[in-house]
Amino acid sequence: MKARILAVVQELQRLKREGVTSVAVSEDALAGLRAAIERRRASYRSMEKTTAPSARAAPSAGPTRSEAEPAHAPSSAAGSFADSSGRKAAAGFSAVLESASLAAPSNSMRDSIKSPKAPPAAASTLPPPPVISLPAGTKRERWEWLRDRVLNCDTCLARTPAGLKVVFGVGDVDSQIFFCGEAPGADEEIQGEPFVGAAGRLLTKMIIGMGLQREQVYISNILNWRPQMDARRSGTSMQQTGNRPPTDQEMRFGLTYLRAQVEVVQPKVIVALGSTAAAGLLGPGSFKSLGSIRGQWHEFNGTPLMVTYHPSYLLRNASNKTKRVVWEDLLLVMEKVGLPISAKQRGYFL
Ligand code: URA
Repeated sequence: MKARILAVVQELQRLKREGVTSVAVSEDALAGLRAAIERRRASYRSMEKTTAPSARAAPSAGPTRSEAEPAHAPSSAAGSFADSSGRKAAAGFSAVLESASLAAPSNSMRDSIKSPKAPPAAASTLPPPPVISLPAGTKRERWEWLRDRVLNCDTCLARTPAGLKVVFGVGDVDSQIFFCGEAPGADEEIQGEPFVGAAGRLLTKMIIGMGLQREQVYISNILNWRPQMDARRSGTSMQQTGNRPPTDQEMRFGLTYLRAQVEVVQPKVIVALGSTAAAGLLGPGSFKSLGSIRGQWHEFNGTPLMVTYHPSYLLRNASNKTKRVVWEDLLLVMEKVGLPISAKQRGYFL
């Protein structure tokens, strides 16, 4: 339960970093959280009564992680928080995005939970990024060589628990459009394919809205393994709950493989999905908020780069305004690559 509440808090923090200023929360969920906070306060009060002053004398610099979390929310409250926010977010989706978001399973929130904390020991001991020298050959041969290299990358494998998979890019190596996300989540490390969870289903709908099939574009991530939350994961097949964004070091490592994929595919346009992908491609600290850089053309190694919100952001913020903003970014991409745009497509979400 504590982990679920932490996951909700982390998701809210991530949304805040992405510029979200409000989210829909059900009355039930709020009541559950208030009750949990009240219980915690009550337990502090009773501890204060029973603890000697000397034992309480040294205040900590700030709340510890567990102090910051309400510890005992009833399961129904946290469940309804996650469910109601997920479903509410999905409720208003119009034609092109609707079925994907409504079809999102109840654990879809996990797909978009990016914990900002828990830098694992494994992340800080990464070797220097690999040096890739692509062989001569056709695009397909070069891509297969690179995929083989990444799927057998010792560093990637060491960070992927037994039974789960390193995730390499998929799609058309001749595509003009290259979508880049952050890192695999739970569904992706099971299937070994990027964007196959709830966010992935929404991405697929967005691609279809552009008049394409998923197989006609290329889809990859900054990082090829699911960032570990803690050391328990290593060497076990246990799946973690919750996600965190890759560290800068992980991003530097993964970027080598991403850059090589871009070199093979040679797309006309790269679309960075979300702030982590944007930070990976534009450089960490290169922008203040995603809202300030989306909808404009940037460059990654000479390739035009469009930045837009991550599909998981859309799953949580399904206002027509947000959907329109993302759609406008995708219209710019369609224009850039010369895709036909119908009046209906132009008018989505207006
Ligand atoms: N989110 C991402 O950024 N990438 C995936 O592959 C899945 C979810």
